[in-house]
Amino acid sequence: MIIQLKSDCNAQEKIAIEENLKSNAYKTTFVATQQGEYMVANGSREIDLRAIGKLHGVKDVHYVSDPYQLVSAKWKIAPSEILYGNGEKIGNNNFTLMAGPCAIESEEQIIQTLEHLKKCGIKVMRGGVFKPRSSPYSFRGMGMEGLRIWHQLAKSYNISIITEVMQVSQIAEMYDFIDIFQVGARNTQNFNLLEELGKVDKPVLLKRGISGTIDELLYSAEYIFSAGNERLILCERGIRTFETASRNTLDLNAVPILKEKTHLPVVVDPSHGIGIRSHVETMALASVMAGADGIIYETHPCPEKASSDSQQTLNFDESEKAAANLTSVWNLRKSMLMS
Ligand code: PEP
Ligand code: MN
Repeated sequence: MIIQLKSDCNAQEKIAIEENLKSNAYKTTFVATQQGEYMVANGSREIDLRAIGKLHGVKDVHYVSDPYQLVSAKWKIAPSEILYGNGEKIGNNNFTLMAGPCAIESEEQIIQTLEHLKKCGIKVMRGGVFKPRSSPYSFRGMGMEGLRIWHQLAKSYNISIITEVMQVSQIAEMYDFIDIFQVGARNTQNFNLLEELGKVDKPVLLKRGISGTIDELLYSAEYIFSAGNERLILCERGIRTFETASRNTLDLNAVPILKEKTHLPVVVDPSHGIGIRSHVETMALASVMAGADGIIYETHPCPEKASSDSQQTLNFDESEKAAANLTSVWNLRKSMLMS
């Protein structure tokens, strides 16, 4: 059950609401986000919602039958719109493209990519400065030095930065230099990291775990929301299956299912999803038709020379074509849904 509190709900009223719920054997969690205050109550006893609704300080009460609560679409029917950068929006009928290299490698690579994104009208640049690599001997990113250079350059192009945060201590370090924190597939269930990201006032893009179910992704999102951050974006990036012909199996089923289960925006990463450059655009287009609110993909001035994920990275010609087609397909989907 979610109890939305009035903005002027005072401490005494909060205690009274909590006591009432406790007396009904409900366990309560108080949640304060950028957008409001909530009491999440978990229990199994039948309870009169109207009686809770009448308590002082209560704005609204919602019974949510899902095990996750705040991220569920069962209480918040309107899709969430997530603000980032200088007031740009993701979700709720705003289509978002995010593109850039797997890893930030040099000033020259950053400038070339920013120029390319500007030309394509793409407002968010992706790239890793802390890279999770399977082998400890592979290139693991330029770290904060790379992020500082990138931030300076991106600002002059008015392009936002999304980059992966791998551990709690990096959150504060990165905060001033990024627009969206990315949680990678290897960290989807790093609950300490998720809870700390709940305390920041910047959007978080949460990727689905490599072997994670859709519900596990939603539980992970609930960790962040319940810790205080409701500026969340979910990302389908492929899961590990028995299939070996592609790097991962891009689970496009997840898109309409997530869109039904949650009010949060859903973005798809076809680059990691299929892992094969020649099929990235196709899967991106399919993702848009499946209902995605945006696409995040890898592009590089010279994919052959990329330090990581070269085989799934588009060159700028391919990226330009993909971005234009994706926008056309987005408009097509919109017109189909509207007609
Ligand atoms: C990435 O975006 O470069 C990345 C490492 O993605 P994932 O966490 O989905 O593997
Ligand atoms: Mn990558």
